[in-house]
Amino acid sequence: MKKFTLKLFTALTLLFPLFGSFTGQAAAQETINVVTTTTHLTDLVQDIGGDRVEVTGLMGPGVDPHGYTPTPSDIELLADADLIGHNGLHLEAMFTDVFAGMESAGSNIFALEEIVSEDDVLDFEFEGKDLEQDPHIWFDIDIWKNAAQLVAAELTALDSESGEYFQTNLDEYIANLDELDAYIQERVEEIPEESRYLITAHDAFGYFGANYGFEVVGIQGLNSQTEAGTGDIAAVADLVLENNINAAFIESSVPDRNMQALVEAVAAEGGELEIGGVLFSDALGTDEENAGNYFDAYRTNIDTIVDGLK
Ligand SMILES: [Zn+2]
Repeated sequence: MKKFTLKLFTALTLLFPLFGSFTGQAAAQETINVVTTTTHLTDLVQDIGGDRVEVTGLMGPGVDPHGYTPTPSDIELLADADLIGHNGLHLEAMFTDVFAGMESAGSNIFALEEIVSEDDVLDFEFEGKDLEQDPHIWFDIDIWKNAAQLVAAELTALDSESGEYFQTNLDEYIANLDELDAYIQERVEEIPEESRYLITAHDAFGYFGANYGFEVVGIQGLNSQTEAGTGDIAAVADLVLENNINAAFIESSVPDRNMQALVEAVAAEGGELEIGGVLFSDALGTDEENAGNYFDAYRTNIDTIVDGLK
């Protein structure tokens, strides 16, 4: 009897390593804790990572990334993350020191700027002196495909067993981008070529303009945090009058006071400029606004632009 008990005990202890390996496998199936900055990147990581990731976006709908300052709880979330993703190209200007510190502390960080080549990046002359690089890369569908590839590679590096799953999501994402591109091209055709002017609060739409043939004018330049002078507004008002532009657009993440000032400046010269609607530029919106994800927001933008200008 004693012998049997011993045997049973031995059998059980032999089984424990097996139980252990089962728990080990369960651990491998744990989700990757990703912390991201902008809504566009958060949405991208969610789409590629699916149920293998737990994504926390620090910036919500309508939040301006140029001016967003990280909070103490943001820093805690970043410190606990398996993977940190940000746009880069100085978009999240207030995060520069935080990311530099985390990088030297050994955090796992990627920036979408890694995939933007010198040939692809748009340079922007600001106040006639510095050449800045345009950070609004999500509006360039080819660059955004590379961004999706980078995200898939980053996730696969942390969870190689899910590599095929990420690849499937990536293929689907790229197919959706192709479909979106076709939709944009088709809708843009509805606007007469001479009316393809996109006037917004700040220069978020440079890549969009370059790819789809729009002259893009932002009252505040590349950074929504800079102030527009009355001279800037007067210059844009002249452009509106000279080119018979009938509509300009508000951005959900930028106060609309400069746009109202522009409408008044045009009216003072005897012209008429309408507000063509709200565009989702540096932040996605909500599902109620039909802008809760990358694809809905881009489509909503195109519909607003085309309906305002055609
Ligand atoms: Zn911006």
